[in-house]
Amino acid sequence: MLLSRESKNSPVNSAGTFPFIRFDAVIHFAGLKAVGESVSKPLLYHDNNIVGTITLLEVMAAHGCKNLVFSSSATVYGWPKKVPCTEEFPLSAVNPYGRTKLFIEEICRDLRNSDSQWKIILLRYFNPVGAHPSGLIGEDPRGTPNNLMPFVQQVAVGRGQALTVFGKDYSTKDGTGVRDYIHVVDLADGHIAALKKLSDPKIGCDVYNLGTGKGTSVLEMVTAFEKASGKKIPLQIAGRRPGDAEVVYASIKKAETELKWKAKYGIEDMCKDQWNWASKNPFGYGSLESKK
Ligand code: UDP
Repeated sequence: MLLSRESKNSPVNSAGTFPFIRFDAVIHFAGLKAVGESVSKPLLYHDNNIVGTITLLEVMAAHGCKNLVFSSSATVYGWPKKVPCTEEFPLSAVNPYGRTKLFIEEICRDLRNSDSQWKIILLRYFNPVGAHPSGLIGEDPRGTPNNLMPFVQQVAVGRGQALTVFGKDYSTKDGTGVRDYIHVVDLADGHIAALKKLSDPKIGCDVYNLGTGKGTSVLEMVTAFEKASGKKIPLQIAGRRPGDAEVVYASIKKAETELKWKAKYGIEDMCKDQWNWASKNPFGYGSLESKK
């Protein structure tokens, strides 16, 4: 997303470019994000995510815009040895997708070290779920969803038979994996807070976690969704998914203190808004025909 100031002149010239627009900042959300696909198509991921980012950074510099907010991920903590994850934790990647996020973070740090005009905020997302409360904007993954909540949603609308629970033998409250789920509206607000923070002269290339600081298990999430939707989600217990961490949740101190941002919504709101979107749009942005 490019954030620009209005121009008195027509913004588009005959070449279809935007010579009069001054871009103040860029929020870079674009990227491929399916872990399994990244394992089978690593070059696609490295090309799209890393080369795409380098191209964007070059274009930004060419336009004199050196303010960036980038969507990184909690995946850069790998399998954390303890929780909550603070921004100072050692970084590692456990699959090609995670490596692209890690490499882009490093590229951003190198760039800032080379030129102090750059101001970059890396936002490490935990597990974004939910939808806009209007029910007009929501997630519509292509093919079989990889993530928990889109899958639960598909079962609830009858597009899947049962949720496969990956592992019930973790040393967690109910044996299932624990994650830090964050409402997409809170996540969006976190970006506004980061944009504002870019004007702080102390910012160089800085990192913030965007999470709630609370860990929720797979079964707790399913129960909350059943309550919000009134639908029963049949479960099939399976073995652990290769590469899955046991418990991951964020330390939210840094974002709270420095960005003055804190998540407002809990898992009930996340499930309510996700069900509102799903029940109004059982086939996402398409129709039954388009999903066949
Ligand atoms: N999970 C599951 N069934 C699924 C998808 C995910 O049991 O069909 C579990 C997964 O093992 C993890 C949690 O749900 O414990 C969140 O998984 P997701 O892929 O959404 O996020 P990530 O693991 O990348 O944090």
